Amino acid sequence: MDEKIEQAARWLASADKAIVLSGAGISTESGIPDFRSADGIWSRYDPAEYATLGAFLRDPAKVWLMLAELDELLRAQPNPGHTALAELEQAGAVAGIVTQNVDGLHQAAGSRNVVEFHGSSRTYSCLTCGAVYPRDDVRAMIKPPRCTREVESRTCDTILKPDVVFFDEMIPPQALTRTERLVDGADLILVVGTSCEVYPAAGIPWQVRQQGGRIVEINLEPARELPSDVVLAGKSATLLPAIVEKWKHLVN
Ligand SMILES: [Zn+2]
Repeated sequence: MDEKIEQAARWLASADKAIVLSGAGISTESGIPDFRSADGIWSRYDPAEYATLGAFLRDPAKVWLMLAELDELLRAQPNPGHTALAELEQAGAVAGIVTQNVDGLHQAAGSRNVVEFHGSSRTYSCLTCGAVYPRDDVRAMIKPPRCTREVESRTCDTILKPDVVFFDEMIPPQALTRTERLVDGADLILVVGTSCEVYPAAGIPWQVRQQGGRIVEINLEPARELPSDVVLAGKSATLLPAIVEKWKHLVN
């Protein structure tokens, strides 16, 4: 394993543009359960009934039974893996992160250039008047939370929707554009905590490979389909700080 950590650190030190793709695995190490696992939230709430825009528009109060639980699950702190990635970005060694997670833990750790491929639970929006509310404000509201903005001298009162991408929604165009810009010219990608089975995010490492870049994978279970150059099998909260330690010796 030490050799693989060393190898990853060397590639990181010599890369012109390194980027990161992260998924549920980095968040589970912060105590957020994997929603797709056997006992995950989607085993209790059928996504078709609770996690589509169609369902939300039909019966937002019902969908909020799931959303209230989801918000509880997302109360977590960044782990040393998140912190290591933030440190690399601050040092200019990582250009940015594309994440499939909606928890905002990368930003909480200090990462700035984070593309949230599936939206974010850090903000909530009113689909009637367009008002946006930070998560902390919504947490303080009675559920289901309603828009408090005054529109034409009456309260809007629409039930708020988290800015996460529901199952029947498109990836936000802005996220796709930012991802394209990030991937363009990348010659190294760290794939962290994702089995890369859900497209289009799963295609990102392939793009890096296509432009001649390398893939470093950090996963508890190696992704089956990914043509990784090196696979570090284990916890990202341990492996990422170890890579950063080695990398520091190389660049200093
Ligand atoms: Zn409103």
